[in-house]
Amino acid sequence: MNTYMKETEAGLVHTYNRFPVVLEKGEGVYLYDTDGNRYLDFAAGIAVCGLGYGNEELNSALKQQVDQLIHTSNLYYNTTCGKAAKALKRVTGMDRVFFTNSGTEAIEGALKAARKYAWKKGSGRYEFIAMEHSFHGRSIGAVSVTGNEHYRTPFEPMLPGVSFAEFNNLDSVKALVTDKTCAIILEPLQGEGGINMAEKEFMEGIRKLCDEEGILMICDEIQCGMGRTGSMFAWQSYGTKPDIMTMAKAIGSGVPVGAFAMTEDIAEFSLEPGDHGTTYGGNPLACAAVAKTLEIFERENLVSHVKEMGSYLREKLEELKQSGMIEEIRGTGLIQGIRPGKPVGEVSSAALKEGLLVISARDNILRLVPPLVIEKKHIDEMIEKIKKVL
Ligand SMILES: *Cc1c(COP(=O)(O)O)cnc(C)c1O
Repeated sequence: MNTYMKETEAGLVHTYNRFPVVLEKGEGVYLYDTDGNRYLDFAAGIAVCGLGYGNEELNSALKQQVDQLIHTSNLYYNTTCGKAAKALKRVTGMDRVFFTNSGTEAIEGALKAARKYAWKKGSGRYEFIAMEHSFHGRSIGAVSVTGNEHYRTPFEPMLPGVSFAEFNNLDSVKALVTDKTCAIILEPLQGEGGINMAEKEFMEGIRKLCDEEGILMICDEIQCGMGRTGSMFAWQSYGTKPDIMTMAKAIGSGVPVGAFAMTEDIAEFSLEPGDHGTTYGGNPLACAAVAKTLEIFERENLVSHVKEMGSYLREKLEELKQSGMIEEIRGTGLIQGIRPGKPVGEVSSAALKEGLLVISARDNILRLVPPLVIEKKHIDEMIEKIKKVL
Protein backbone atom coordinates (compact mmCIF):
# COMPACT_ATOMS: atom_id res chain seq x y z
CA MET A 1 0.00 0.00 0.00
CA ASN A 2 1.23 3.45 -0.93
CA THR A 3 0.58 4.76 2.56
CA TYR A 4 1.32 8.30 3.50
CA MET A 5 0.92 10.00 6.82
CA LYS A 6 -0.54 13.39 7.48
CA GLU A 7 2.13 15.74 8.85
CA THR A 8 0.47 15.87 12.24
CA GLU A 9 0.38 12.06 12.48
CA ALA A 10 4.05 11.92 11.58
CA GLY A 11 4.86 14.60 14.12
CA LEU A 12 5.85 17.13 11.46
CA VAL A 13 4.95 20.79 11.41
CA HIS A 14 2.20 21.15 8.84
CA THR A 15 3.86 23.62 6.44
CA TYR A 16 3.66 21.76 3.13
CA ASN A 17 0.77 20.82 0.90
CA ARG A 18 2.05 17.47 -0.27
CA PHE A 19 0.85 15.27 -3.11
CA PRO A 20 -0.61 11.99 -1.77
CA VAL A 21 2.25 9.78 -2.87
CA VAL A 22 5.24 8.19 -1.14
CA LEU A 23 8.27 8.13 -3.42
CA GLU A 24 10.81 5.43 -2.84
CA LYS A 25 13.37 5.32 -5.62
CA GLY A 26 14.45 6.96 -8.81
CA GLU A 27 16.00 5.80 -12.06
CA GLY A 28 16.93 8.08 -14.93
CA VAL A 29 14.04 10.51 -15.33
CA TYR A 30 11.52 8.31 -13.54
CA LEU A 31 10.48 8.04 -9.89
CA TYR A 32 8.73 5.08 -8.28
CA ASP A 33 6.32 5.06 -5.36
CA THR A 34 5.97 2.39 -2.68
CA ASP A 35 3.40 0.55 -4.82
CA GLY A 36 5.84 0.38 -7.71
CA ASN A 37 3.94 2.98 -9.79
CA ARG A 38 6.21 4.84 -12.19
CA TYR A 39 6.20 8.62 -12.63
CA LEU A 40 7.80 10.61 -15.41
CA ASP A 41 9.47 13.44 -13.54
CA PHE A 42 9.02 16.96 -14.89
CA ALA A 43 9.69 18.51 -11.48
CA ALA A 44 13.23 17.24 -10.74
CA GLY A 45 12.80 17.90 -7.03
CA ILE A 46 12.08 21.56 -7.92
CA ALA A 47 14.79 22.03 -10.54
CA VAL A 48 17.41 20.22 -8.45
CA CYS A 49 18.07 16.81 -9.99
CA GLY A 50 19.62 17.96 -13.26
CA LEU A 51 21.38 14.64 -13.75
CA GLY A 52 18.21 12.70 -13.03
CA TYR A 53 18.32 9.73 -10.66
CA GLY A 54 20.85 6.98 -10.17
CA ASN A 55 23.72 8.57 -12.09
CA GLU A 56 26.38 5.95 -11.45
CA GLU A 57 29.34 8.25 -11.74
CA LEU A 58 27.89 10.78 -9.32
CA ASN A 59 26.76 8.11 -6.89
CA SER A 60 30.09 6.35 -6.80
CA ALA A 61 31.90 9.67 -6.21
CA LEU A 62 29.54 10.33 -3.30
CA LYS A 63 29.96 6.82 -1.87
CA GLN A 64 33.71 7.14 -2.09
CA GLN A 65 33.58 10.50 -0.30
CA VAL A 66 31.35 9.07 2.44
CA ASP A 67 33.99 6.41 3.08
CA GLN A 68 36.80 8.94 3.00
CA LEU A 69 35.50 11.96 4.93
CA ILE A 70 32.06 13.54 5.40
CA HIS A 71 32.77 16.59 7.48
CA THR A 72 35.61 18.63 8.93
CA SER A 73 34.29 22.24 9.50
CA ASN A 74 35.83 25.36 8.06
CA LEU A 75 38.64 25.43 10.60
CA TYR A 76 40.60 23.29 8.14
CA TYR A 77 41.01 22.89 4.40
CA ASN A 78 39.64 19.77 2.80
CA THR A 79 40.26 18.04 -0.50
CA THR A 80 36.96 18.66 -2.32
CA CYS A 81 36.12 22.24 -1.28
CA GLY A 82 38.89 23.80 -3.33
CA LYS A 83 38.13 21.54 -6.25
CA ALA A 84 34.46 22.55 -6.24
CA ALA A 85 35.30 26.24 -5.83
CA LYS A 86 37.73 26.14 -8.75
CA ALA A 87 35.13 24.49 -10.97
CA LEU A 88 32.46 27.02 -9.96
CA LYS A 89 34.88 29.85 -10.58
CA ARG A 90 35.50 28.53 -14.07
CA VAL A 91 31.85 28.14 -15.05
CA THR A 92 30.63 31.38 -13.43
CA GLY A 93 33.54 33.62 -14.37
CA MET A 94 33.43 34.90 -10.78
CA ASP A 95 36.56 35.14 -8.62
CA ARG A 96 35.50 34.08 -5.11
CA VAL A 97 33.05 31.47 -3.91
CA PHE A 98 31.46 30.84 -0.50
CA PHE A 99 29.63 27.54 0.08
CA THR A 100 26.34 27.41 1.97
CA ASN A 101 23.84 24.65 2.70
CA SER A 102 20.89 26.03 0.76
CA GLY A 103 19.71 28.70 -1.61
CA THR A 104 18.28 30.79 1.19
CA GLU A 105 21.65 30.91 2.90
CA ALA A 106 23.31 31.87 -0.37
CA ILE A 107 20.91 34.83 -0.54
CA GLU A 108 21.67 35.79 3.07
CA GLY A 109 25.38 35.68 2.31
CA ALA A 110 24.97 37.76 -0.84
CA LEU A 111 22.98 40.43 1.03
CA LYS A 112 25.59 40.52 3.80
CA ALA A 113 28.44 40.69 1.28
CA ALA A 114 26.76 43.68 -0.40
CA ARG A 115 26.18 45.47 2.90
CA LYS A 116 29.73 44.80 4.06
CA TYR A 117 31.03 46.28 0.82
CA ALA A 118 29.02 49.45 1.35
CA TRP A 119 30.12 49.62 4.98
CA LYS A 120 33.78 49.19 4.16
CA LYS A 121 33.54 51.81 1.43
CA GLY A 122 31.88 54.11 3.96
CA SER A 123 29.10 54.86 1.47
CA GLY A 124 26.29 54.71 4.00
CA ARG A 125 24.33 52.53 1.58
CA TYR A 126 22.15 49.75 2.95
CA GLU A 127 18.94 49.65 0.89
CA PHE A 128 17.99 46.85 -1.47
CA ILE A 129 15.79 47.06 -4.54
CA ALA A 130 14.11 43.74 -5.33
CA MET A 131 11.47 42.71 -7.86
CA GLU A 132 7.77 42.07 -7.55
CA HIS A 133 6.94 38.35 -7.80
CA SER A 134 10.53 37.42 -6.98
CA PHE A 135 11.38 34.47 -4.77
CA HIS A 136 14.60 34.35 -2.79
CA GLY A 137 13.89 32.05 0.17
CA ARG A 138 12.17 31.96 3.56
CA SER A 139 14.56 33.31 6.18
CA ILE A 140 13.80 36.81 7.42
CA GLY A 141 16.50 38.34 5.18
CA ALA A 142 15.55 36.33 2.09
CA VAL A 143 11.82 36.81 2.56
CA SER A 144 12.42 40.54 3.01
CA VAL A 145 13.56 40.73 -0.61
CA THR A 146 10.88 38.30 -1.83
CA GLY A 147 8.16 40.15 -3.73
CA ASN A 148 5.21 38.14 -2.52
CA GLU A 149 3.04 39.50 0.30
CA HIS A 150 1.78 36.04 1.14
CA TYR A 151 5.27 34.97 2.26
CA ARG A 152 6.00 38.24 4.05
CA THR A 153 2.98 39.60 5.87
CA PRO A 154 2.71 37.12 8.79
CA PHE A 155 6.37 37.70 9.64
CA GLU A 156 6.51 41.47 9.59
CA PRO A 157 8.32 43.69 10.30
CA MET A 158 10.72 42.82 7.50
CA LEU A 159 14.26 44.17 7.03
CA PRO A 160 14.11 47.93 6.68
CA GLY A 161 15.22 49.55 3.44
CA VAL A 162 13.79 47.10 0.89
CA SER A 163 11.61 48.30 -1.97
CA PHE A 164 10.07 46.43 -4.90
CA ALA A 165 10.18 47.38 -8.56
CA GLU A 166 8.14 45.98 -11.41
CA PHE A 167 10.04 43.22 -13.21
CA ASN A 168 11.00 44.21 -16.77
CA ASN A 169 10.21 47.88 -16.08
CA LEU A 170 13.50 49.76 -15.84
CA ASP A 171 11.81 53.06 -15.05
CA SER A 172 10.16 51.54 -12.02
CA VAL A 173 13.62 50.44 -10.80
CA LYS A 174 15.13 53.87 -11.47
CA ALA A 175 12.32 55.51 -9.51
CA LEU A 176 13.35 53.57 -6.39
CA VAL A 177 17.08 54.41 -6.52
CA THR A 178 18.32 56.65 -3.71
CA ASP A 179 21.80 57.58 -2.51
CA LYS A 180 21.33 54.79 0.04
CA THR A 181 20.75 52.01 -2.51
CA CYS A 182 23.26 49.26 -1.83
CA ALA A 183 22.21 46.55 -4.31
CA ILE A 184 19.59 45.47 -6.80
CA ILE A 185 18.68 41.79 -6.56
CA LEU A 186 16.86 39.87 -9.26
CA GLU A 187 16.38 36.48 -10.89
CA PRO A 188 17.17 36.70 -14.63
CA LEU A 189 14.27 34.28 -14.99
CA GLN A 190 11.71 34.23 -12.17
CA GLY A 191 10.81 30.62 -11.37
CA GLU A 192 8.36 30.57 -8.48
CA GLY A 193 6.98 33.92 -9.66
CA GLY A 194 5.51 32.42 -12.83
CA ILE A 195 8.41 31.68 -15.25
CA ASN A 196 9.02 35.31 -16.21
CA MET A 197 12.09 35.99 -18.34
CA ALA A 198 13.96 39.25 -18.06
CA GLU A 199 14.08 41.17 -21.30
CA LYS A 200 17.51 41.92 -22.70
CA GLU A 201 17.03 45.70 -22.38
CA PHE A 202 16.00 45.24 -18.75
CA MET A 203 19.09 43.25 -17.77
CA GLU A 204 21.35 45.62 -19.68
CA GLY A 205 19.56 48.61 -18.18
CA ILE A 206 20.03 47.29 -14.64
CA ARG A 207 23.74 46.65 -15.24
CA LYS A 208 24.20 50.17 -16.61
CA LEU A 209 22.18 51.73 -13.80
CA CYS A 210 24.27 49.89 -11.21
CA ASP A 211 27.52 51.02 -12.84
CA GLU A 212 26.40 54.62 -13.05
CA GLU A 213 25.04 54.83 -9.52
CA GLY A 214 27.61 52.72 -7.65
CA ILE A 215 25.05 50.02 -6.87
CA LEU A 216 25.85 46.28 -6.78
CA MET A 217 23.96 43.89 -9.03
CA ILE A 218 23.03 40.56 -7.46
CA CYS A 219 21.72 37.78 -9.71
CA ASP A 220 19.84 34.93 -8.07
CA GLU A 221 20.64 31.91 -10.26
CA ILE A 222 19.42 29.36 -7.74
CA GLN A 223 16.65 28.06 -9.99
CA CYS A 224 17.45 29.38 -13.47
CA GLY A 225 21.20 28.63 -13.28
CA MET A 226 23.15 25.43 -13.91
CA GLY A 227 22.25 25.04 -17.54
CA ARG A 228 18.50 25.16 -17.17
CA THR A 229 17.90 28.02 -19.59
CA GLY A 230 20.35 26.70 -22.18
CA SER A 231 23.17 28.86 -20.80
CA MET A 232 25.29 27.67 -17.90
CA PHE A 233 23.94 30.64 -15.95
CA ALA A 234 21.05 32.73 -17.20
CA TRP A 235 22.86 36.08 -16.89
CA GLN A 236 25.49 34.82 -19.32
CA SER A 237 23.01 34.86 -22.20
CA TYR A 238 22.52 38.61 -21.58
CA GLY A 239 26.22 39.34 -21.15
CA THR A 240 25.40 41.24 -17.95
CA LYS A 241 27.86 39.97 -15.38
CA PRO A 242 26.60 40.61 -11.86
CA ASP A 243 28.84 41.66 -8.97
CA ILE A 244 27.48 38.90 -6.78
CA MET A 245 25.52 35.79 -7.73
CA THR A 246 23.79 33.00 -5.86
CA MET A 247 23.47 29.33 -6.75
CA ALA A 248 21.96 26.22 -5.15
CA LYS A 249 19.39 23.65 -6.33
CA ALA A 250 21.08 21.82 -9.24
CA ILE A 251 24.71 22.51 -8.27
CA GLY A 252 24.78 19.50 -5.93
CA SER A 253 22.41 17.24 -7.91
CA GLY A 254 20.32 16.69 -4.79
CA VAL A 255 22.98 16.87 -2.08
CA PRO A 256 22.05 19.98 -0.09
CA VAL A 257 24.47 22.75 -1.08
CA GLY A 258 24.39 26.35 -2.20
CA ALA A 259 26.94 29.03 -2.93
CA PHE A 260 27.37 32.70 -3.53
CA ALA A 261 30.15 34.10 -5.63
CA MET A 262 31.55 37.55 -6.30
CA THR A 263 34.10 39.35 -8.37
CA GLU A 264 37.51 40.24 -6.96
CA ASP A 265 36.53 43.95 -7.03
CA ILE A 266 33.80 43.23 -4.52
CA ALA A 267 35.67 40.59 -2.53
CA GLU A 268 38.49 43.03 -1.87
CA PHE A 269 36.14 45.27 0.13
CA SER A 270 33.69 42.70 1.43
CA LEU A 271 33.57 39.75 3.83
CA GLU A 272 36.62 39.11 6.02
CA PRO A 273 37.35 36.38 8.57
CA GLY A 274 34.69 36.45 11.27
CA ASP A 275 32.09 38.27 9.14
CA HIS A 276 30.22 35.22 7.97
CA GLY A 277 30.38 31.47 8.40
CA THR A 278 28.57 28.17 8.57
CA THR A 279 29.48 24.88 10.21
CA TYR A 280 28.50 22.64 7.31
CA GLY A 281 29.22 24.99 4.40
CA GLY A 282 31.83 23.64 2.00
CA ASN A 283 31.84 20.25 3.63
CA PRO A 284 33.68 17.48 1.77
CA LEU A 285 30.54 15.52 0.85
CA ALA A 286 28.61 18.52 -0.48
CA CYS A 287 31.65 19.72 -2.40
CA ALA A 288 32.28 16.28 -3.87
CA ALA A 289 28.73 16.53 -5.25
CA VAL A 290 29.41 19.97 -6.74
CA ALA A 291 32.78 19.02 -8.23
CA LYS A 292 31.44 15.82 -9.80
CA THR A 293 28.25 17.51 -11.05
CA LEU A 294 30.26 20.20 -12.80
CA GLU A 295 32.67 17.66 -14.23
CA ILE A 296 29.78 15.73 -15.77
CA PHE A 297 28.09 18.94 -17.00
CA GLU A 298 31.19 20.06 -18.84
CA ARG A 299 32.25 16.69 -20.22
CA GLU A 300 28.76 15.77 -21.46
CA ASN A 301 28.13 19.30 -22.71
CA LEU A 302 24.77 19.28 -20.96
CA VAL A 303 24.14 22.93 -21.70
CA SER A 304 23.89 22.32 -25.44
CA HIS A 305 21.73 19.26 -24.77
CA VAL A 306 19.36 21.55 -22.83
CA LYS A 307 19.24 23.97 -25.75
CA GLU A 308 18.29 21.17 -28.12
CA MET A 309 15.70 19.59 -25.80
CA GLY A 310 14.38 23.04 -24.89
CA SER A 311 13.54 23.91 -28.48
CA TYR A 312 11.97 20.48 -29.02
CA LEU A 313 9.85 20.99 -25.89
CA ARG A 314 8.86 24.44 -27.15
CA GLU A 315 7.80 23.02 -30.52
CA LYS A 316 5.57 20.47 -28.82
CA LEU A 317 4.09 23.05 -26.47
CA GLU A 318 3.34 25.36 -29.42
CA GLU A 319 1.34 22.49 -30.94
CA LEU A 320 -0.66 22.21 -27.71
CA LYS A 321 -1.31 25.92 -27.83
CA GLN A 322 -2.41 25.82 -31.45
CA SER A 323 -4.85 23.06 -30.61
CA GLY A 324 -6.29 25.31 -27.90
CA MET A 325 -5.33 23.09 -24.96
CA ILE A 326 -3.20 25.73 -23.31
CA GLU A 327 -3.39 29.51 -23.32
CA GLU A 328 0.20 30.61 -22.91
CA ILE A 329 3.82 29.42 -22.95
CA ARG A 330 6.62 31.08 -21.00
CA GLY A 331 10.31 30.54 -20.38
CA THR A 332 13.09 28.90 -22.30
CA GLY A 333 15.30 25.80 -22.35
CA LEU A 334 14.16 23.29 -19.75
CA ILE A 335 12.40 25.83 -17.57
CA GLN A 336 9.13 26.45 -19.35
CA GLY A 337 5.70 27.26 -18.04
CA ILE A 338 2.29 26.72 -19.57
CA ARG A 339 -1.03 28.20 -18.60
CA PRO A 340 -3.78 25.63 -18.97
CA GLY A 341 -7.41 26.66 -19.31
CA LYS A 342 -8.17 25.28 -15.84
CA PRO A 343 -6.67 25.60 -12.35
CA VAL A 344 -3.11 24.22 -12.23
CA GLY A 345 -3.83 22.47 -8.92
CA GLU A 346 -6.39 20.29 -10.70
CA VAL A 347 -4.02 19.68 -13.59
CA SER A 348 -1.05 18.63 -11.43
CA SER A 349 -3.23 16.29 -9.33
CA ALA A 350 -4.69 14.70 -12.46
CA ALA A 351 -1.18 14.45 -13.94
CA LEU A 352 -0.02 12.53 -10.86
CA LYS A 353 -2.72 9.93 -11.55
CA GLU A 354 -1.42 9.69 -15.13
CA GLY A 355 2.09 9.06 -13.83
CA LEU A 356 3.49 12.53 -14.47
CA LEU A 357 5.01 14.85 -11.88
CA VAL A 358 4.58 18.56 -12.54
CA ILE A 359 4.58 21.55 -10.23
CA SER A 360 2.95 24.93 -10.34
CA ALA A 361 4.11 28.54 -10.19
CA ARG A 362 2.33 31.84 -9.61
CA ASP A 363 -0.20 33.06 -12.17
CA ASN A 364 -1.80 29.64 -12.71
CA ILE A 365 1.33 28.43 -14.47
CA LEU A 366 2.33 24.79 -14.72
CA ARG A 367 6.10 24.68 -14.31
CA LEU A 368 8.05 22.21 -16.45
CA VAL A 369 11.53 21.71 -14.99
CA PRO A 370 12.56 18.13 -15.87
CA PRO A 371 15.99 16.61 -15.25
CA LEU A 372 18.37 18.17 -17.80
CA VAL A 373 19.28 14.73 -19.14
CA ILE A 374 15.77 14.27 -20.53
CA GLU A 375 15.46 12.93 -24.11
CA LYS A 376 12.96 13.62 -26.89
CA LYS A 377 11.05 10.42 -26.15
CA HIS A 378 10.41 11.64 -22.59
CA ILE A 379 9.13 14.96 -23.88
CA ASP A 380 6.79 13.06 -26.22
CA GLU A 381 5.63 10.94 -23.29
CA MET A 382 4.98 14.04 -21.19
CA ILE A 383 2.98 15.65 -24.01
CA GLU A 384 0.81 12.53 -24.37
CA LYS A 385 0.11 12.48 -20.64
CA ILE A 386 -0.61 16.19 -20.40
CA LYS A 387 -2.98 15.97 -23.38
CA LYS A 388 -4.99 13.32 -21.54
CA VAL A 389 -5.09 15.47 -18.43
CA LEU A 390 -6.15 18.62 -20.28
C1 LIG B 1 14.52 27.74 -4.37
C2 LIG B 1 14.95 29.14 -4.49
C3 LIG B 1 15.55 29.83 -3.41
C4 LIG B 1 15.69 29.22 -2.04
O1 LIG B 1 16.51 28.11 -2.04
P1 LIG B 1 16.40 27.01 -0.86
O2 LIG B 1 17.47 26.03 -1.19
O3 LIG B 1 15.02 26.47 -0.89
O4 LIG B 1 16.69 27.73 0.40
C5 LIG B 1 16.00 31.11 -3.65
N1 LIG B 1 15.89 31.69 -4.85
C6 LIG B 1 15.32 31.06 -5.90
C7 LIG B 1 15.24 31.76 -7.21
C8 LIG B 1 14.81 29.78 -5.74
O5 LIG B 1 14.23 29.17 -6.77
